[in-house]
Amino acid sequence: MEEQQIKWDLCATKKDKPKTDELVFGRFFTDHMFTMDYTVEQGWHDAQITPYQPLSIDPSAMVFHYGQSVFEGMKAYVAVDDSVQLFRPEKNLQRLNRSNSRLCIPPIDETFILRAIMELVDLEKDWIPRADGTSLYIRPFIISTEPYLGVAPSSHYKLIVILSPVGAYYEEGINPVKIAVESQYVRAVTGGTGEAKTGGNYASSLKAQEVGADKGFSQVLWLDGVERKYIEEVGSMNVFFKINGEVVTPALNGSILEGVTRNSTLQLLKHWNIPVVERRISMEELRQAHKDGLLEEAFGTGTAAVISPIGQLTWNGEDMIINNNKTGEISRKLYDTMTGIQYGKINDPFDWVVKVKEQTKISQ
Ligand SMILES: *Cc1c(COP(=O)(O)O)cnc(C)c1O
Repeated sequence: MEEQQIKWDLCATKKDKPKTDELVFGRFFTDHMFTMDYTVEQGWHDAQITPYQPLSIDPSAMVFHYGQSVFEGMKAYVAVDDSVQLFRPEKNLQRLNRSNSRLCIPPIDETFILRAIMELVDLEKDWIPRADGTSLYIRPFIISTEPYLGVAPSSHYKLIVILSPVGAYYEEGINPVKIAVESQYVRAVTGGTGEAKTGGNYASSLKAQEVGADKGFSQVLWLDGVERKYIEEVGSMNVFFKINGEVVTPALNGSILEGVTRNSTLQLLKHWNIPVVERRISMEELRQAHKDGLLEEAFGTGTAAVISPIGQLTWNGEDMIINNNKTGEISRKLYDTMTGIQYGKINDPFDWVVKVKEQTKISQ
């Protein structure tokens, strides 16, 4: 395939950057974005870095009607040596293509898109906040843009990458959250789209989230869509439990999203010789373990919060307080290690970090 070039169109004026104490998740966007288009005739083409701006899209564009869209979420960090680095970005691009395949969206060239992301991040590096726990959130996404109301895969798509400086996901940093176990609504079923990162999964999760938020819960824990017995995941995080010395996480079953943080957590636990298994685990088993005093820790994993300890789980009106509502030892160690690697504070034995600047320039 012919090497793609990126066209550059830089802003004349730059926006004011948010101050550290104003940083929240996903409210501020940088000066530029990356876009690329797809048509059946031309494939993916017209790669551009342009000023961040509204899109002009036909009201009949298929994405508005049938929701054919996918997205990713990753972060860029300023390391202690002042270099800019990404954490396992190739994993996100591989997953984007798995999501594409499920949603009938044509595959992207992972190598080229990673290089384009690096160009954009390098251009916007002054936007990366430096305070502890802050970073530049990278949101690549693809939408179907063909103006057509028929139900079929679109023949036109737009890929866009936007960047957002973000603070720590939870104001308290790494503090335990309260989670409601959802017994009425379901997020996904095997054979559906649960393992793809697609907006529709979130649209269908909002109702349960809203009901939970009204009762003071920060997230809901989803059970399987068939029997409503087996644990799947939490909001935008995978979930882990330490039961009697062993760490358990639900096995990937076709309806759970495979997190990069989940994968990194499994690798770290194995590296530390902490017993860990991926298997089916029911809510009843977890309740019994809690009753027997064997549920030692629970935590969620995801790019946004990294590790989020779970201090309380409520199921059918019954509250389970975990580890006295305190951050557990493994949650703390995982958080410190993962963020230590991301900010270049500690050695990276797995080669997870990719420096943005070592890449060759591909732009005109
Ligand atoms: C993105 C996401 C996760 C976490 O994945 P990471 O790659 O670790 O950020 C977990 N569950 C859902 C539903 C997600 O969309």
